[in-house]
Amino acid sequence: MDMNRRQFFRVSSADLVGSSLAALGFSPTAALAEARNFKLARTTETRNTCPYCSVGCGIIMYSLGDRAKNVVSDIVHIEGDPDHPVNRGTLCPKGAGLLDFVHSPNRLKYPEVREAGSNEWKRTSWDDALGRIVKLMKADRDANFVTANADGKTVNRWTSTGMLCASASSNETGYITHKAFRSMGMLVFDNQARV
Ligand code: SF4
Repeated sequence: MDMNRRQFFRVSSADLVGSSLAALGFSPTAALAEARNFKLARTTETRNTCPYCSVGCGIIMYSLGDRAKNVVSDIVHIEGDPDHPVNRGTLCPKGAGLLDFVHSPNRLKYPEVREAGSNEWKRTSWDDALGRIVKLMKADRDANFVTANADGKTVNRWTSTGMLCASASSNETGYITHKAFRSMGMLVFDNQARV
């Protein structure tokens, strides 16, 4: 067989790689025998949004556990959502570390309250927390709502309570939130996207 110099080196290097891999135990038969199941094969996929920053990347959380009564499902893997228009499957290092965030022993999983004058945080229920927030907001608005400024012009504003919103909300959620709180006269209104 006629072979030029370039072809000779190509064939020689392919032979060398093949024999080296075989010497290391990577023969096709051994590789086949080592094949394992895809680690996400039995998981449940749940779509969500990364909670960290205003980019709002889409994520897929993979959990194990069939949701039977005596089974607690556990998130075993998180990755970027390839169908999400914002990140198209990518995640920055913070987003890529979300699994540690989910399983962190320091993660706050329920509402807590610190009463005035106390230095102790106490666990409370979501119903109690939301009811308390509503009562305190109403009391503050009733006491501090300003209907007219010093010139007598109607202003209908409430400046003694503020709201900080989540940047990962959709446009629609942001629009509704804005409408709800502006309709109460609230002026102090900002978004985590600026933090
Ligand atoms: S993955 Fe990174 S860029 Fe995307 S929302 Fe999370 S923190 Fe922001």
